[in-house]
Amino acid sequence: MSFDDRRRNVRSLLFFLVALLATVVITFGANFAGAADRGELALGPRYTPTAADRALPPAPDQRPGPRVALTFDDGPSRQLTPYILDVLAAKRVRATFFLQGNHSADNPELVRRVQAEGHVVANHGWQHAWFPDLTPEEAEVEIQRTNQLLTDQTGVRPTLFRYPFGQPSPDGDAALARLRISGGVHWKWTSNEPGDFQCPGADAVARYVVTEAADQAMILLHDAGDVVTCAPDQLEYLPRAIDELRARGFTFGVVAPSPVRSAVNQGSPAAVVP
Ligand SMILES: [Zn+2]
Repeated sequence: MSFDDRRRNVRSLLFFLVALLATVVITFGANFAGAADRGELALGPRYTPTAADRALPPAPDQRPGPRVALTFDDGPSRQLTPYILDVLAAKRVRATFFLQGNHSADNPELVRRVQAEGHVVANHGWQHAWFPDLTPEEAEVEIQRTNQLLTDQTGVRPTLFRYPFGQPSPDGDAALARLRISGGVHWKWTSNEPGDFQCPGADAVARYVVTEAADQAMILLHDAGDVVTCAPDQLEYLPRAIDELRARGFTFGVVAPSPVRSAVNQGSPAAVVP
């Protein structure tokens, strides 16, 4: 065997070893990502579909009638988002998630799950800033950086923005106009019931959701932030409220940009659509 042959053999062997290593890394990576997408990173409770859930038609309910949108802010979180997604899937309900950039960067597998399960991914800023205190540059970065990350993670560019604390600013509005994003999307809040972020328990949150429900109502809920410290069984409001609203003839939609401002939702430039 010549020196050149031997060198070729060594090169082939090296090539084979590198290819083998790459296969092992890719296979392991894919399995790991699969585990993550199945929610095995969940740190909180999970929801098991009931017999009634399993009997529901597979497609979301498109009947005419009053339509509400469930909106979840501040997520995703490993404590609460997996359970909420479990319930929505079991109940065949699509919802709208106003995600924080920093929480999305920490939980890309949950962002992809929100998207993959048919929900609307929307922008809630990077780190829940108080917009009136931001410089024009900071306001734009809060919105733009979050939109870019969510676009990279899901392949879909978000077109809706909700201000943290529902607190708008002229600089934020200017940035939204430049970026062609619809905001700020508010919500209906006309009852005196406490919100989920005040940790009033499952009965009270279910009562709040049912009380606020009206045609075109965007219901404010959370899947991270302050609600992470509430008792975990507070989450049981969600399957109960969905069942109760269905029994009252409501259907569930998602939030979409609209040139007409919604009087039901504090003048939001958005509508609830099937
Ligand atoms: Zn928020």
